Amino acid sequence: MRFPIGFTMAQMKHRGKMSREGRKRYPTVLMLEPLYTCNLACIGCSVERHTGRLADRMSLEQCLQAVDDCGAPIVNLCGGEPTLYPELKGLVDGLIERGKYIICCTNALKLDTKVFGVIPPHPQFFLMIHLDGMRKTHDHVCAREGVFDKAIEMLREAKRLGYVTMINTTVFKETEVAEVEEMCKLVEELRADGILISPGYDYESVEADVFLTKEQIHEKFQAIRGFSGKYKINATPMFLEFAAGMRELPCAPWSTVNFTPKGWKAPCYLIGEGFIEKWDDFWENTNWEYWESRLDSRCQNCKMHSGFEHSAVEEAMKTMKGKLQLAAWSLTG
Ligand code: SF4
Repeated sequence: MRFPIGFTMAQMKHRGKMSREGRKRYPTVLMLEPLYTCNLACIGCSVERHTGRLADRMSLEQCLQAVDDCGAPIVNLCGGEPTLYPELKGLVDGLIERGKYIICCTNALKLDTKVFGVIPPHPQFFLMIHLDGMRKTHDHVCAREGVFDKAIEMLREAKRLGYVTMINTTVFKETEVAEVEEMCKLVEELRADGILISPGYDYESVEADVFLTKEQIHEKFQAIRGFSGKYKINATPMFLEFAAGMRELPCAPWSTVNFTPKGWKAPCYLIGEGFIEKWDDFWENTNWEYWESRLDSRCQNCKMHSGFEHSAVEEAMKTMKGKLQLAAWSLTG
């Protein structure tokens, strides 16, 4: 199976319920950022996401309220570095109790002290370790030596302890496709539960010239798509076709909503035109039609999972061929 069966079923159940209720737009994933504090300052990360003070973090109650308000079955804990959130255990417990699937997006540096022995492995709790390349590349991207080795040590330990553990890789301008394949092989060698490969987003607040143009994304993802069948890559075949420039998709920014220490980020995980305190104001007043159209200049080079994976699945579900392709992809890997 590409993902644990419960995770796939939770998404299908949610889609079915939304469709029965006649909802065209609904969130499936909540990117919950309880804090903007981090123990790294990676070169491709938007500045506000790693410069926040711990004192400015969200309360546990605010986090759970956001989860209840949006109703998404999947909660990605990110930020900031979520393992630095002092209330992490209470948050994970509250999410498990609500039947949510939790993806803890982490640089892994603190897993041994903040997660192992504190939050036990659970079928609804996944670790997603950030790894942007092999040793030299990853340490360069993280602007610190030794991060790669520590992440690999933590990944091995996480698997030994029984955590569902995946890798999340961002492809930058300098990323060699051969290195991406090397990482896919590493995932197999470490018996990790998959790798999510995404093109980086060109944040206005990041000065480094590391991001890809649309044409460069297409070129790299055509090559990645070429070997994707051999590995457990956690992006649907339709998304990879989109990333490789073989099909167009509308954006679905509402499918992955983002709650931050400043409020609901509108319109999407990448663009913060506004930060809105109340869920209803955010949901009802964001001009979804405009953002779906991708006419905004900031959308031109965007090929992010958070915007397009939902549309890729919707597209697949329109035809029998697409449904079969999606089912085959889910059952293998
Ligand atoms: S295309 Fe990208 S930047 Fe634009 S709204 Fe969608 S997710 Fe956000």
